[in-house]
Amino acid sequence: MNKICLNPDCAFPFNIIRDGYFRRKEDSKLVQRFRCKTCGKRFSNATFTETYYQKKRRINYRFLEFYSGGLSIARSARILKVNAKTIERRVSFLGKKCARLNQKARERIKNIHNVVMDDLITKENSKLKPLSISIAVDEDTRRILGVEVSRIPAFGHLSKVALKKYGYRASQHMEGLDRLFKTITPSLSPEVLIKTDEHRSYPYVIQKYLPHCRHESYKSERAHVAGQGEMKKVAFDPLFVINHTCAMLRANINRLIRKTWCTTKKIERLKDHLEIFQYYYNEIYLKGVTPI
Ligand SMILES: [Zn+2]
Repeated sequence: MNKICLNPDCAFPFNIIRDGYFRRKEDSKLVQRFRCKTCGKRFSNATFTETYYQKKRRINYRFLEFYSGGLSIARSARILKVNAKTIERRVSFLGKKCARLNQKARERIKNIHNVVMDDLITKENSKLKPLSISIAVDEDTRRILGVEVSRIPAFGHLSKVALKKYGYRASQHMEGLDRLFKTITPSLSPEVLIKTDEHRSYPYVIQKYLPHCRHESYKSERAHVAGQGEMKKVAFDPLFVINHTCAMLRANINRLIRKTWCTTKKIERLKDHLEIFQYYYNEIYLKGVTPI
């Protein structure tokens, strides 16, 4: 048996024997129990799983699908017939889990030749406190390579109001781009072609991490339909893949829908939500639609 005793002070933790079963109340599954013959500590197969101590394991996958498809926490709780607090806790559980799986998937991919990237603006609570979501996509497979969130100061006519109400808000956009490139650079070919719009922060960070890459920037085009800034009013949009991905995010992550009731209160939960969406989009959604 390859299990070892969970007691950290156990003198000889390799002396484990089977010790009967119990029937888990939640899903009526039989779970194997074990006992350490050295110290007498008892535990079960469930102790080793990441869902240990969860009382509603059955909701995890369906909630992942709901949360990546535009449903709110409150509505998911209603459909799954569980308390909203239960769902709220699963957001950070699934966020961490998906982040781990996304990282593993990134490590398997090497030598990507075409990358498109962009930033998507959203807010924490108020438009006076905007957030920037930096996102990089593999142009050939449409896979999301990485997503990072950073705080930015209010802009346009709101900048004065924001300064008066909330004080100075530093731009952390460069740090966000830095984190993004740190995670995605190992998967890219050194001569990768990166396409972006004319945002002035990109050339610096691209030069820093990929000095031998090619960088092409394009002028931002006007939106096709008012309010749908992601789909452009041109016959051929060189940044189509990234704009389409951003549109998918806007449509399927409820807090990013324009003029919605749902909003981000904690930047960490937005990050969790993005990791959950990235996992769903790369591993489940794209596998169903793209012939790769
Ligand atoms: Zn022991």
